[in-house]
Amino acid sequence: MRPQAVLPDALCAVGDTPLIRLNRIPAAEGIRCNVMAKCEYFNAGGSVKDRIARRMLLSAEQNGTLIPGKSIVVEPTSGNTGIGLALACAIRGYRCIIVLPEKMSAEKVNTLRALGAEVIRTPTEAAHDDPRSNIMVARRLAEKLPDAVILDQYNNPNNPMAHWGTAEEIIEAIVAGYAPPAEASLATGMGAAPNKDVHAPAGARPLTPDSSQGAASPEQRPVDLATSAMAAHSLASPASASSSGLVDVLVCGVGTGGTVSGIASRLKRADHNPGCFVLGVDPVGSDLALPASLNQLPEGADGSYKVEGIGYDFDPNTLDKTMIDEWYKTVDDVSFAYARRLIGEEGLLAGGSSGAAVGAAISWLKPGGAGYERFGSKEGLNVVVVLPDSLRNYITKPWLSVDAKPELRESEIDFDSFQ
Ligand code: PMP
Repeated sequence: MRPQAVLPDALCAVGDTPLIRLNRIPAAEGIRCNVMAKCEYFNAGGSVKDRIARRMLLSAEQNGTLIPGKSIVVEPTSGNTGIGLALACAIRGYRCIIVLPEKMSAEKVNTLRALGAEVIRTPTEAAHDDPRSNIMVARRLAEKLPDAVILDQYNNPNNPMAHWGTAEEIIEAIVAGYAPPAEASLATGMGAAPNKDVHAPAGARPLTPDSSQGAASPEQRPVDLATSAMAAHSLASPASASSSGLVDVLVCGVGTGGTVSGIASRLKRADHNPGCFVLGVDPVGSDLALPASLNQLPEGADGSYKVEGIGYDFDPNTLDKTMIDEWYKTVDDVSFAYARRLIGEEGLLAGGSSGAAVGAAISWLKPGGAGYERFGSKEGLNVVVVLPDSLRNYITKPWLSVDAKPELRESEIDFDSFQ
């Protein structure tokens, strides 16, 4: 839990992200185990990659590779590591050059530029070893600029190591169990900050209307909001849900592999759950999954995919495939549909790769899926899915507004017939 103290700078607002239970989606899909989302978009720069950016930069400063006021940070990225680094560079005072493929969103580029980074775009279709690829262009620039340093998220051990902390946070949350739902916090007069309110302090009482204000309206009646809301909507009261007390399954998209490898290596340690099952999520068109036959393109597919941040045509050194028990291939349509469901049904402002991970988790766990074969509909099974970034990186992408309600101008409303 983030301490209630003044943070010295925005780098301190990286980590301690919430683990939030999914309710409506698993219920609609006939899934009875606990599915929980590690919401990495709460980080200062808006993604899971803030963690590695901070760790890579600070450790390079510590070992003298980066010299404040002199060094230039150059990094090839799909955008989020770039944002994390640009944020760190803004704070620590480094020039920052970010090289990313054309496919990555305008929102990421605008964020990078606002943070003061210089942005270079490269052709999406260039293979990793093509001189025009983001990786090769970054190297070529670094050769030209004497003070340039590539922190190199594809090879830097600080990438997976940063996620030991992510895993520790997940374990802590699973061991702590459920905070009361927001209604309960409201009823105890403590505000809707459920993760702070595990126990109501002695003397806390339900909100009651001020009697000097006359008769209470139905909304103001001094009901115990917690009890009534829980009774009306059992999903809002997961406190009674059983829990194995462990992370039984981790579902995680794979790009550099730092997130999955780092979190899994901690969860699988003897002091937590060596049997923790890890599902790696890889889009159709990427070559990361094993067995390699999974990567064969279906008839008619051209191998391109729109989801950002996951999938590669080479194995990064930061990806430890021995940590992944099974791979799941995803397609854009399903990934984006699940991102919209996360937003519209769970209130989680997730991005496309979050949709890929949750879509994989749900298809795998629901009756008929391979996870259902393995675990059945075991109550108390704890499944953690990582949500790497937020819809704010994709605001102008057409997939976000499919099926969205229309937006009307005041002049277009017929007030007589409006319902
Ligand atoms: N999703 C998004 C949106 C990302 O930016 C990344 C980072 N490339 C990932 C998932 C995958 O994370 P990792 O590189 O740690 O495998």
